[in-house]
Amino acid sequence: MTASFPHLLKPLDLGVTTLSNRVMMGAMHLGLEAHPGGFERMAEFYAERARGGVGLMVTGGIAPNQDGLLKTGGPVLEAHGQIARHKLVTDAVHGEDGKILMQILHTGRYSYQEYSVAPSPIRAPNSPATPREMTGEDIDRTIADFANCAALAREAGYDGVEIMGSEGYLINEFITLHTNHRDDDWGGAYENRIRFVLEIIRRTREKTGPNFIIMFRLSMLDLVEDGSTWSEIVKLAREAEKAGANILNTGIGWHEARIPTIAQAVPRAAWTWTTAKLKGKVAIPVIASNRINTPEQAEDILARGDADMVSLARPFLADSHFVAKAAAGQADLINSCIACNQACLDHIFNGQICTCLVNPRACHETELVFEKTAELRKIAVVGAGPAGLSFATVAAERGHSVTLYEATNDIGGQFQIARKIPGKEEFNETLRYFRKMIELLGITTWLNTKVGAAELLEGGYDRVILATGVTPFTPDIEGIGHARVMSYIELLRDGKEAGDRVAIIGAGGIGFDVAEFLVHAGKRWGHSREEFLARWGIDVEIKSPGGLTHAPQTPEPAREVFLLQRKTSRLGKDLGKTTGWIHRAILKQAGVTMISGVSYRRIDDDGLHITIGGEDKILEVDTVVICAGQEPCRELKGELEKGGMTVELIGGADEAGELDAKRAIDQGVRLAASI
Ligand code: FAD
Ligand code: NAP
Ligand code: SF4
Repeated sequence: MTASFPHLLKPLDLGVTTLSNRVMMGAMHLGLEAHPGGFERMAEFYAERARGGVGLMVTGGIAPNQDGLLKTGGPVLEAHGQIARHKLVTDAVHGEDGKILMQILHTGRYSYQEYSVAPSPIRAPNSPATPREMTGEDIDRTIADFANCAALAREAGYDGVEIMGSEGYLINEFITLHTNHRDDDWGGAYENRIRFVLEIIRRTREKTGPNFIIMFRLSMLDLVEDGSTWSEIVKLAREAEKAGANILNTGIGWHEARIPTIAQAVPRAAWTWTTAKLKGKVAIPVIASNRINTPEQAEDILARGDADMVSLARPFLADSHFVAKAAAGQADLINSCIACNQACLDHIFNGQICTCLVNPRACHETELVFEKTAELRKIAVVGAGPAGLSFATVAAERGHSVTLYEATNDIGGQFQIARKIPGKEEFNETLRYFRKMIELLGITTWLNTKVGAAELLEGGYDRVILATGVTPFTPDIEGIGHARVMSYIELLRDGKEAGDRVAIIGAGGIGFDVAEFLVHAGKRWGHSREEFLARWGIDVEIKSPGGLTHAPQTPEPAREVFLLQRKTSRLGKDLGKTTGWIHRAILKQAGVTMISGVSYRRIDDDGLHITIGGEDKILEVDTVVICAGQEPCRELKGELEKGGMTVELIGGADEAGELDAKRAIDQGVRLAASI
């Protein structure tokens, strides 16, 4: 039994209805909304989470009209003919005793369509076009469209709507001077700028009646120039309540803000202080949000009285049964979200279907099904990295007899190294999850066992899964054997000490991680909530507009670091779409010198000899760390096959190029589901 969660599991009476607990699954685009058969898949996605006990869910954003779409052809609810597909979702959720709100989202100037609309014609840094300034008529029509959309949502069976007022979308654009330069009744004084959203809430309440939840997602911290101040935010919260909202959700940071809000770089529950500040200023419940990923933490937030409810979004991609497991005293069996964004937000921004690195079933519930096997097989899995672990646990769950061999003294493979990187501590949660699953499923596990082909051939196995991963690639550079050269494995796993000036050869994901490790000197700086807020220049009083102090405090880096690549492109170009900029910003803050277009000539007592743009240079460094990619490790394959064994390769053992944990886990899970 693990901790109990009395505050988390306490019902919440909203007047309109009572929620069974205080946990909400926040809105996420799933990439299924405009996909053929997408609503059927969404129905199963939400139904599974309702079965998993979550108190309330919010759909991804649905536009109230065509102008509000993120992309042409995206999800919109503006006519009766569009209700039927939403009923698939609401019926499935209600069939499982769940409750669901539909989020109404007008993207305003964040639309990727050829045209967009906004209060003023000011182009967003991340948008393709300058928006058209809305006329008074446009504004009246848009308010009516929001109310109409909510009424249709009610007809479709939703328990309510969330009116999206944060993250820099249309409503937020009206509220702040950052984007509202109008001089009519909808601009100028704060009272005028909030008229748009208050009218929307009022008209929505009129159209939907009293027995319908209206949640308003309020931007409690804009993190952009000329954003709202705290007194303005409190005023808006009170007015929203008067206008008819029955619950307030927290929004943090506009999409264009250059401060991370949900990535691994953000400490857990870093923003709940904003919701806590609002608590008591309104009579309706308030919801804390962003970077909350364990029930323990959620319980603490509620027990402290910082909020009435917590919203977790990505953790429900990682584990649909988050609440049920917490309630059953099995919190240690929760597959935790590690805040990597690799399979959820990065997928959405790349136009792919959202899923989850640690749970590839997310959004694939209808096609990736773990059925009990009709034919029990005896399977050996070699290597307990992410690929081997995901295969072993799913295969065992399906009823196969699985034996897991691992050469080192612990499970995890490269995750054991990755978790040492400042900001990647969440990888420990994945290891905890797999450890508990191995125990629960009774998987025979041999640690410290570098298994050979003979043993496997004699073991009576029906098949062998090689998940033996990768070994670091050693480039052919003169002096590569010099005493000042080490691989990332020697630095991170074996604890070899680096000097004060370090050059890193290779600027892929691992090169960036090694750079961060080196500037932190093994001990993470800037990761308590206070340090994080100071480091990114956040005004916790929110007296300054948008909550920006303009004075970020950067700690002293532990070393001078040079990060190098041969390509002439920008360093970190291929890092995650939604997180690459954060890694680059952190290294910049720490004074890391990033150089592209490098040729490596040699390494000797003087340091690293390179050529850049035809000019020879010596980087007088004490240490050179090699992060130049990997090669597959699969020497057992030939011998096993010669011995007549059926062998399957997964993860790095299969293909080292462009390997990451997302692919390794996905491959393991899919193979296990098919055997
Ligand atoms: P591995 O993790 O390499 O595991 C292979 C296992 O097999 C090892 O435990 C090894 O000991 C064992 N083994 C090998 N031979 C034998 C044998 N004969 N008998 C028994 N056992 C054997 N990926 C991401 O997606 N996101 C990240 O943020 C990320 N960060 C990273 C940071 C760092 C510093 C590093 C090093 C990697 C990072 N990765 C990240 C990459 C990710 O960890 C790998 O892609 C993933 O671990 C590959 O999984 P795998 O199971 O194929 O191989
Ligand atoms: P990688 O991304 O392929 O990068 C390898 C680096 O080595 C490149 O910068 C490459 O740049 C350089 N290189 C390749 N061959 C070289 C040679 N012969 N001599 C000198 N330099 C050479 O691989 P990685 O950094 O090892 O990462 C492994 C995998 O783990 C990646 O696929 C990555 O996705 C994953 N990972 C992900 C994250 C994450 O945050 N998502 C973090 C860490 C790791 P040039 O060829 O231009 O020199
Ligand atoms: Fe969380 Fe990463 Fe899964 Fe997204 S992909 S839900 S961030 S673990």
